[in-house]
Amino acid sequence: MEHSLNVCVCLDTDMSSVRIEVRGCVTARNYKALLPLLTRAKGLPADAQISLDLREAAHLEQDVLDALGYTALGEMTGQLEIAGIGSMSIVLPPNPGVCMQGELPGSSQPIRPAQPAAA
Ligand SMILES: [Zn+2]
Repeated sequence: MEHSLNVCVCLDTDMSSVRIEVRGCVTARNYKALLPLLTRAKGLPADAQISLDLREAAHLEQDVLDALGYTALGEMTGQLEIAGIGSMSIVLPPNPGVCMQGELPGSSQPIRPAQPAAA
């Protein structure tokens, strides 16, 4: 099974804010699917609040944050400065590096949380 990405766009009826909620795995390979959504969100009125909410993401690769121009503002919050799109806020998951998919059937390199070394 591949790392899968699921996105829900939550838009206030008065268009004052949009929250892009991401579930599943956000990898260096699939995060680009988010960029068209973020571009469209920037088409809202200039004072609209845009946030990328990754709290429900099962897995987030550090390379993605680097590519999105992440700056930490707190333990789980930060600001993105995305080339060609602009700035928006981001909320991170509590365990961004651990893939909850566990061992992936058919994968030659299963991703697992680090195991303590045997004594
Ligand atoms: Zn994953």
